[in-house]
Amino acid sequence: MGSHVWVEDQELAWVDGVVTSVNGNEAEVETINGNQVTTKLSKLYPKDMEAPDTGVDDMTKLSYLHEPAVLHNLAIRYGIKEIYTYCGNILIAINPFQAISHLYDTKLMDSYKGAQLGDRSPHVFAITDVAYRAMNNEGKSNSILVSGESGAGKTETTKMIMRYLAYLGGHAAAEARTVERKVLESNPVLEAFGNAKTVRNNNSSRFGKFVEIQFDARGQISGAAIRTYLLEKSRVCQISEPERNYHCFYLLCAAPPKEIEKYKLGDPKSFHYLNQSSCYELVGVDDSHDYLATKKAMDIVGISVEEQDAIFRIVAAILHLGNIAFALEGEDSSVLEDDKAKFHLQVAAELLMCDLEALETALCKRNMVTPEEVIKRSLDPLGAAISRDGLAKTIYARLFDWLVKKINVSIGQDPDSKCLIGVLDIYGFESFKTSSFEQFCINFTNEKLQQHFNQHVFKMEQSVYQEEEIDWSYIDFVDNQDVLDLIEKKPGGIISLLDETCMFPKSTHETFAQKLYQTFKDHKRFVKPKLARTEFTIVHYAGEVQYQCDQFLDKNKDYIVPEHQELLSTSKCSFIASLFPSLNAETPKSGKFSSIGSRFKLQLQQLMDILNSTEPHYIRCIKPNSDLRPEIFENGVLEAIRVKCEGYPTNRIFSEFLERFSILAPEVLKENVEENVACKSIMEKVGLSNYQIGKTKIFLRAGQMAELDGRKAKL
Ligand code: ATP
Ligand code: MG
Repeated sequence: MGSHVWVEDQELAWVDGVVTSVNGNEAEVETINGNQVTTKLSKLYPKDMEAPDTGVDDMTKLSYLHEPAVLHNLAIRYGIKEIYTYCGNILIAINPFQAISHLYDTKLMDSYKGAQLGDRSPHVFAITDVAYRAMNNEGKSNSILVSGESGAGKTETTKMIMRYLAYLGGHAAAEARTVERKVLESNPVLEAFGNAKTVRNNNSSRFGKFVEIQFDARGQISGAAIRTYLLEKSRVCQISEPERNYHCFYLLCAAPPKEIEKYKLGDPKSFHYLNQSSCYELVGVDDSHDYLATKKAMDIVGISVEEQDAIFRIVAAILHLGNIAFALEGEDSSVLEDDKAKFHLQVAAELLMCDLEALETALCKRNMVTPEEVIKRSLDPLGAAISRDGLAKTIYARLFDWLVKKINVSIGQDPDSKCLIGVLDIYGFESFKTSSFEQFCINFTNEKLQQHFNQHVFKMEQSVYQEEEIDWSYIDFVDNQDVLDLIEKKPGGIISLLDETCMFPKSTHETFAQKLYQTFKDHKRFVKPKLARTEFTIVHYAGEVQYQCDQFLDKNKDYIVPEHQELLSTSKCSFIASLFPSLNAETPKSGKFSSIGSRFKLQLQQLMDILNSTEPHYIRCIKPNSDLRPEIFENGVLEAIRVKCEGYPTNRIFSEFLERFSILAPEVLKENVEENVACKSIMEKVGLSNYQIGKTKIFLRAGQMAELDGRKAKL
């Protein structure tokens, strides 16, 4: 009775109030907005009445480390435009959705240079500075992992990290500055081709990115390598309201008249690949300005004028390809639908510099190889459209890979560099109404990173305990190895089963689903939804996600139609021909199955190997909504807190503890004993055990602080 508490609230997530009566295991609470709420005692969280009004800049300073306290603290800080808060060594960044003046200017950079974490207010520069100094001082590679849901601010944060690293490790001499300029200008280039407007973010990255910045012995940037992961290819041909295709298409449609004429472009509304959604323009974005800016960035990263011409010619060709519509001819053959389709076919062939008839044949027909001869079989209109879209996607994906490779070659690698700082900007956990293979891969990534994170936070906790010489033989921390086994175990995991299914000619998505149901019927992390025939659910660390098997087989096949390969490898444009080199050991053999899932798994393992060889730093980005509802935390912040709560989430320097609680046992102060003994006496008097006394601090279990406050309130 009379205690100040937090109760759950439909609208506000949490609201504070005072307990007015207790009945068995239920309590009546009068909330500050004047409501009477009845709730289970177990659903009440104590409110810290001594917490400062302006919040704390490090969550570990909170006396009660529970969800409402954490959210409340972040909300207070966000209200006063403090978007950064620490949770120990982890930086939490809340997207302000507006430019905050001076938050990233050079003066501020100066002030963070060399400062200890905690000396200055929390900032992405502070974390980066720690990583940079650790690298220089200890000669060890570091990494900064930026995570969070779509639109939370990962990419913006990553760019700030790169800018600050260029500032710290930049060269004094102007002519030496090309490396860092190239590193920074790689961002707008990759964003033009790999970002798009989605429901959740106007500039959503549709690929994962790990940038490895290399430094020489003097701490100056000497090279960089960019690795990208799993570009969303389907977007090239298919978008839905209110999303857009990749930015580059709109930029090109807004290019100067000379280009428009050269590429026979026009209104974006006239292109099928763009007009499936009615969104063409973005608020605050001028596509024609960005077209020129992208070209300028391309100049800086070393893409020649001729290469730029070929690149945009390909982008235009893809738009024209999309407008080649087919109609039924005879029983199951297809022909170009009308003159418009013929026109676009002609332009596409011109731009791709390939033979017009050969292009048409490659789109509408397939070779059937029989022991005696090769027969050309016609595709029906739907088959031809799928063939066309497949071609467009393959060209685009190869173009994107080319860009990444080119940028890497141009920036250059420093083979002598012993130290690097890796910056990871990768898609957060996703769960949609229909989640498909892409979400499966994305969520797999997040499980991997979560494991890395848990192990790291766990290790950090241990080191604090070690420093204070306390006993830490506890903790079974939440492990997600079982989900990872379910997905990636070889043999037997979902990816393995998918590959097996793909290699067996008669399989369908139904047989794949059946195989999963049989194999994992007793797996804790696998659920077959009731009445499901082709869906399955994985119980991820962040929640359950239901996947739809329909397109798993197709999407897992990295397949190029041999006729397409043949066509483009003989293009008269050497740039295009080079994107489709004739078969060699490196490229998957055309027409033969190569697994995207397995390759992704391998890439991810390589990424984890690099990360494991570095000292990691974490930045968790959060996309706020009007009331900072808790779901948004599912993907990050609370996990760190959960791991912490398994141990001793709260600690206090002896003197602080005594100041707050000596009133519970005033006699201890008179006894003139050592501070640690005094702390112990208080805990004994109150009847609490399981706490730990370190060298300078007392470590409390979750809830013990609240218990002590409760006793104080009753005095
Ligand atoms: P996705 O996973 O979709 O790629 P993301 O986490 O990379 O999302 P960003 O593109 O970085 O999200 O951020 C989305 C938008 O939020 C930005 O375009 C920008 O308008 C705004 N934003 C993010 N961080 C900041 C910041 N620190 N200051 C001002 N605005 C920001
Ligand atoms: Mg992004």
